[in-house]
Amino acid sequence: MKIYGDYHTHTHYSDGVTNVIDNLTAARERGLESIGITDHGYSSPSFGGLTREKFLKQKNEIDSLRDQFSELNIYHGIEANIIGIDGNIDLKEEDYSRLDYIIAGFHAPAKPYNLRSFAGLYLNSYFSFLIKPSRYIIERNTKAYISMVKKYPIAIIAHINHLTKVNALEIAKCCADYGTMIELNAKHVELSYVVFEQILKTDVKLIANTDGHYKNKIGRFEEIEKYIKGYPEAETKIVNAKPGVIEFRKPIY
Ligand SMILES: [Zn+2]
Ligand SMILES: [Zn+2]
Repeated sequence: MKIYGDYHTHTHYSDGVTNVIDNLTAARERGLESIGITDHGYSSPSFGGLTREKFLKQKNEIDSLRDQFSELNIYHGIEANIIGIDGNIDLKEEDYSRLDYIIAGFHAPAKPYNLRSFAGLYLNSYFSFLIKPSRYIIERNTKAYISMVKKYPIAIIAHINHLTKVNALEIAKCCADYGTMIELNAKHVELSYVVFEQILKTDVKLIANTDGHYKNKIGRFEEIEKYIKGYPEAETKIVNAKPGVIEFRKPIY
């Protein structure tokens, strides 16, 4: 399987160790057509998350490199945080026009929307390694994700089930209706095969991303290839397993 674009990568503008030019160079060296720079959003200071000022600085840096990397489709997005039990994320509507697309995921260090969200969405994630979350907690987390997909123009759900446990099938069904993709993340492969098989039967589109924070991780999809081995139908669902420009759910209509 060849993957033609890596749409989820980080730089030193958040917790990555690369410069923007390193990500673009890695994409070129790996023979990709497209690369997305998607640093952590505005509520994750302990990830060194972006501020709006840093985002604009990064945008200028990306734009200054476009001629040098004219063979690449270069996207500038963000990895927003789901921070609320009602599906709230850490973006405002006025942020949308600057974004090519929005990835959203749960990150425990991001600042919760309110106390109720801390108790509902965050607290159980701290213990999910030790204690299997109850059906009630999984349902509550799932509801938060579904509200998010309905409320916001999320293009990609990042690393589903990483840190916060959800019913990924129910989320996938909602994503299929709203044109949101489910990510297969090379760093966090945390979907059970039972659920993956069910998801493959839905109409949801999948996207393979590395979530690379280091130059040598960008464009490396081996973990995903290993994961989907034995599921030839998966390749037809992965939007970046074919060349060409991808139609993302747009932040602005
Ligand atoms: Zn993430
Ligand atoms: Zn990430």
